[in-house]
Amino acid sequence: MKRRLKALLGLLCYRSGLYRLFFRDKAIIALFHRVDDRLAGNPISCTAAEFRAFCDFFDRYFRVVSLQTLLSKLGRGEDVSGHLVITFDDGYRDNLETAAVELERRRLPACFFVATEFIGSSRVPPWDAELGIASRWMSWDDVRTLSERGFEVGAHTMNHVDLGVVQGDDAVREIMGSRRRLGQELGAETPFFSYPFGRPHQITPGNRVAVREAGFSCCLSAYGGTVSSQGDPFDLKRIPVSPWFLSPYQFGFEAMLTRD
Ligand SMILES: [Zn+2]
Repeated sequence: MKRRLKALLGLLCYRSGLYRLFFRDKAIIALFHRVDDRLAGNPISCTAAEFRAFCDFFDRYFRVVSLQTLLSKLGRGEDVSGHLVITFDDGYRDNLETAAVELERRRLPACFFVATEFIGSSRVPPWDAELGIASRWMSWDDVRTLSERGFEVGAHTMNHVDLGVVQGDDAVREIMGSRRRLGQELGAETPFFSYPFGRPHQITPGNRVAVREAGFSCCLSAYGGTVSSQGDPFDLKRIPVSPWFLSPYQFGFEAMLTRD
């Protein structure tokens, strides 16, 4: 189906309220990376205007909750119909400078997952190097600011390693190390973990166990899918927001038809 048609059908389904039928016992975890006007069209970026449109869409049609709230509901097997969690991966500086401002304006919660060795560094990961983009990361003060302002902060390994490849002690060091560093920097341990790259094969069963053993209470992927009240907290699916979506209504239409 053409994207434009999906966007139009999405608009009709949401405006009419029909979409609610598709979200019985179904929650969405949305994934963003970067909100930066200079990188319009970049696969992991959206502009501030696009981000605002998504925030308004989420606020209007969903019950936006913190990741902890969703986890608590899953723990009790409670209904998660129409719930939505906003998350960010990697630790880009615009998360604080742009995204957090828009979220606060609407009193929307969000969880920011950071690769701890990227924070305060000038590291340029391969996906930015390929496009000649200089990555701008948050400092530890920035991450603390997010936390102090009430946002959740989660771990995303130390060096953004592929946990489908890195194994054994090296993997444990990356997983545990990110948890320990966040604990030191924020003064409190985080229960949240999302694995880098996020496709199904990018975490081994053994490494998923290592995430649990490190003391985290969840493990989030990034290849699409939704969450039901019976969902496994260590296999939580997220839908990445990308320029492929012509509008939040197209995103919403795809999510309507998605099953975990
Ligand atoms: Zn990442």
